[in-house]
Amino acid sequence: MESEPILQIVLAGPLRTAFDYLPPAQGDFNPLPGCRFQVPFGRGSRIGLLIGVSADSSLPEKSLKRAIRQLDPQPLFTSEDLHLLHWAADYYQHPLGDVIFHALPINLRKDRPEQSSATPGYRLTEQGREIDLETLKRAPKQRDILHRLRHAQAGLATRLLLAEASATHSVLRILTEKGWIEACQLSQDSTTESPPEVKRHALNSQQQQAVDAVREQLGQFQPFLLDGVTGSGKTEVYLYLVEAALQAGRQVLVLVPEIGLTPQLLQRFRNRLGDRVMALHSGLPDGERERVWQAMRSARQPVLIGTRSAVFCPLPKLGLIIVDEEHDLSFKQQEGFRYSARDLSLVRARQHYCPVVLGSATPSLESLRNAREGRYKLLQLPHRAAHSQLPKLQLVDIRNLTLNHGLSPVLIRELKKTLDSGEQAMVFLNRRGYAPMLTCHACGWLTDCPRCDARMTHHRQKNLLWCHHCGHQQRVPEQCPECGSPDLRPVGQGTERVEERLRELFPDTPLARIDRDTTRRRGSLEKMLGDVRAGRFPLLLGTQMLAKGHHFPAVTLVAILDVDQGLFGADFRAGERMAQLVLQVAGRAGRAERPGQVLIQTRHPDHPLMQLLIREGYPAFSAEALEERRLAQLPPFTHQVLIRAEANDARQPEDFLQQLLESGPPTNDLTGIEFWGPIPAPMERRAGKTRAHLLVQSTQRALLHRWLKDLLTRIDQLPMSRRVRWSVDVDPQEMY
Ligand code: ADP
Ligand code: ZN
Ligand code: ZN
Repeated sequence: MESEPILQIVLAGPLRTAFDYLPPAQGDFNPLPGCRFQVPFGRGSRIGLLIGVSADSSLPEKSLKRAIRQLDPQPLFTSEDLHLLHWAADYYQHPLGDVIFHALPINLRKDRPEQSSATPGYRLTEQGREIDLETLKRAPKQRDILHRLRHAQAGLATRLLLAEASATHSVLRILTEKGWIEACQLSQDSTTESPPEVKRHALNSQQQQAVDAVREQLGQFQPFLLDGVTGSGKTEVYLYLVEAALQAGRQVLVLVPEIGLTPQLLQRFRNRLGDRVMALHSGLPDGERERVWQAMRSARQPVLIGTRSAVFCPLPKLGLIIVDEEHDLSFKQQEGFRYSARDLSLVRARQHYCPVVLGSATPSLESLRNAREGRYKLLQLPHRAAHSQLPKLQLVDIRNLTLNHGLSPVLIRELKKTLDSGEQAMVFLNRRGYAPMLTCHACGWLTDCPRCDARMTHHRQKNLLWCHHCGHQQRVPEQCPECGSPDLRPVGQGTERVEERLRELFPDTPLARIDRDTTRRRGSLEKMLGDVRAGRFPLLLGTQMLAKGHHFPAVTLVAILDVDQGLFGADFRAGERMAQLVLQVAGRAGRAERPGQVLIQTRHPDHPLMQLLIREGYPAFSAEALEERRLAQLPPFTHQVLIRAEANDARQPEDFLQQLLESGPPTNDLTGIEFWGPIPAPMERRAGKTRAHLLVQSTQRALLHRWLKDLLTRIDQLPMSRRVRWSVDVDPQEMY
């Protein structure tokens, strides 16, 4: 008798190997890799994904169990998708099951069949089509919904309207009662026959060159670095490229940073491409995410714009990848499966023989080096489109100055001038709360977090001390717990404190503060940004939430209160991040035809990198910073792996890492690999745990990876591996 095929199935969770199963006893059975199966495991059953079929197993047939049933008739992943997942699991040395299930929408990680494709939605009625949108100025929500539906002839899903438009159930009901829209079932993801008419810009010659260069490579693997100053028309270039790929019948993946996926950006894509664009991000309800994922997998829709995890969305006809703001940290997942979506986008592009465009006004040093060495083609947009000028950067030396809650006299004067002339000003401080700490004036006591090596931030409106590292909160004490003095004073400033001062200085000027504390409610950020653009707030104050992706055409003055942290941070990337943040914040100014001014307060006006950035700009800065990295033999000139360990016990993490090192070949025999540590992590105690690091680096990636793989085969055998929590971070971006 011919023996049965053996199914190799990967289960969700931290398991590094696949399990062998026999086919299900009955029912239709079609063992295509990429389909989910329900299988017995332990005493219960689990969901797994078939990754391969083999003729025999290393286990005796008698000990094999039978799969219970096949859940998907057709594979959820193509062989190319699976290849990417295998590649990622191997490169980041992360369990394959975790990688695969991370790539699935939540609904499909469970024991559920695929969703039916009928989706409740709304479409315009005849009457609704006739409405003059201008008459709805006073009802912006209604206008927005009608506007969107005009560009989606077949209608739009209710969930989508609720998630992305400013729709609420009551607005939808009002519009239905007026007879302008009607409920409908969308049998499939609707496409517009006629994309909306939008005025498009004729490209300038540099944009045209960029578009041509990429278009020529459609159908081939080629990475590009689109290095274009803020406002140079990068987004416009993306839009032309997307259209070119669509004409060639391909799908397009656009990756954007978490905070960059604003309705504004989405709307710009929708205006041009209609509802062929779908968005995928963590703010969507699970069902909607599955719907988008399915629409892409079946190639019913061609354009996906999404945050980090969208890099894993199946796109069988993928023909172009764009990564906007490629330098942004949010492309790297910082916990669990620590992958870089930007880096994986290159692997994906190679698999699909397609170009990948990494765009930024402040490219990462990694990408700049790749461009220099010819691995990426460099495309440059050194000037702003639309006749607007880049803002001027200026340092404000605050040594020996008495600051007024963080504001220098020069800065206050310039703010006043700007506001008096009816223009908008923006104040940037990357720290929320009232003050980073409180101190006792009598004895010097500080608000140390009981669980971390950090101070608790003073949040005055809530009357809380709040640790931003572990979330610990407590009421502000009436008096010093050490000496009983009631004289507790804030040290330094956060946005809350600066807001208080600005309101005193400019009592008649409406001010909007935008940070995590003021935008917690869903939709509140959008509303504030809309109000800002409509000119309702001449004075803007905020954290890095303000720095990215938003266009504030009327802002002519940007004040950056504190960059010094960035100059002397413990992390070797601190300078690079400081420069990127400064330029991204500065980039909000002077976008229209008014030139902008950027004032940067610093106590280190002579710092050489800072000087270079101000005088000569990012290209000179990044060239110098790269040279420093080369001399110090740091990334991108070497490759790093960071192994972290933490435990309640103070000694265990370091001991564990030491044992781990000693379990392998002696480190001095390993030529070409450098070991730093085990050492305490920069923040040694966090959330009550003690943390230790082992940083390993090499100029040869292959060597480093071989060492790491070997290490991971030993790690589970160490008795201590169950007492400490450990993780592996390949190409770490943050050393905290
Ligand atoms: P970036 O993405 O580089 O910040 P955008 O594509 O958002 O730049 O363009 C900045 C501004 O310039 C936008 O208002 C855009 O409409 C405008 N713009 C872009 N390209 C052109 C062009 N070729 N001619 C005129 N205006 C343009
Ligand atoms: Zn005291
Ligand atoms: Zn804490």
